[in-house]
Amino acid sequence: MAEDSEPRVAAAIDRLGEQLVADRRHLHRHPELSYHEQATAELCAERCEVLGFTVRTEVGGTGVVADLDSGRPGPTVMLRADTDALPIQERGADRPVRSQNDGAMHACGHDGHVAMALGAAAVLAGMPDAWSGRLRMCFQPAEEVAGGAQPMIDAGAAEGVDRVLGIHLWAPLQVGRVAVGPGPLFGSADEFGLVVRGRGGHGGMPHTSIDPVVCAAQVVTALQTIVSRETSPFNPAVVTIGRIEGGSAFNVIAEEVRMRGTVRAFEHEERERLLRRIAEVARDVAAAMRCEAEFIRANGCPPVVSDAAVAEVVRRAAVKTVGEQNVDQAPRITVGDDVALFLERAPGCYFLVGAGDVAKHPVAPHHHPEFDIDERCLPIGAGTLARAALIELNAR
Ligand SMILES: [Zn+2]
Ligand SMILES: [Zn+2]
Repeated sequence: MAEDSEPRVAAAIDRLGEQLVADRRHLHRHPELSYHEQATAELCAERCEVLGFTVRTEVGGTGVVADLDSGRPGPTVMLRADTDALPIQERGADRPVRSQNDGAMHACGHDGHVAMALGAAAVLAGMPDAWSGRLRMCFQPAEEVAGGAQPMIDAGAAEGVDRVLGIHLWAPLQVGRVAVGPGPLFGSADEFGLVVRGRGGHGGMPHTSIDPVVCAAQVVTALQTIVSRETSPFNPAVVTIGRIEGGSAFNVIAEEVRMRGTVRAFEHEERERLLRRIAEVARDVAAAMRCEAEFIRANGCPPVVSDAAVAEVVRRAAVKTVGEQNVDQAPRITVGDDVALFLERAPGCYFLVGAGDVAKHPVAPHHHPEFDIDERCLPIGAGTLARAALIELNAR
């Protein structure tokens, strides 16, 4: 049935073209920071209601879950889109489409994610005779702080879900291309803290104190060997100390130094090993220097892993959308995304849709004040998503 419905999908995506761009621009002009996505949630809820979905709002905060039941038995397929913006001041006063909220910006493409998900919802709602089971839209807040998925899951968003599909627009990938594959796409992303404690004193009399600044410098250096000396070069991993603070004056030896960092890995065991080794290395290096190091594990999410069978379905959908020659094998990328938590609950696929015209000019990276997407990506993403969902909704 999915095969026969192809001309209808293509026609629907054609008709939706302007709406996709209008939605993305509206969202880009009105970005909302993590946990504050009220207007975005309202827009998603209203649209889904008009399309005939049963809508739940305030799911785990500002999350929205919308279900459309075909009335026929079949799987429940979730389309997940993240809704939040970043605390970045958009650069370029002359940009035609620009954030109107000072200090907030869709610098990761989530404006496009929402627009494409709404587009796919409209396509499927417009051809209810072409599929069975249930379509579930999931508009997830607070992805950028890896804090939105878990509360939605706790509120039941993933209950009964058989498949999870989602897109990340990707500016380094040429617009017109789609990258998809089985296994890990994005790494795990964990935040951790370290506190190195010594004993304060006079900067001119260091022998009467225990200097946590010198110790912290040794700890930072030693932590680099966890990746360079203990991790297989065939298995990418990252340990970054992004923040360090300690001391109050040039001639005072500090009491303590505080650090914060992040760890990225592509396998569960690697993730746990890296975190364990950070704690051990920090503790033992500190002990050698008569200090104490405390390791604090903070927010984190697992790697984003696509199921092989669902990835193959998405690949077929992408081939229909952009042609075989424009579908790439997905790379592994050391950013994180808490879609991982949904993908742990049901087999699914997270894939990349090219969003930059890299053949013409260099593109600003994600999370940059000059980040932008090439809007030609929108019908490609919406089309691939709708086609993949149709295949899954006809699978049994
Ligand atoms: Zn981001
Ligand atoms: Zn993102």
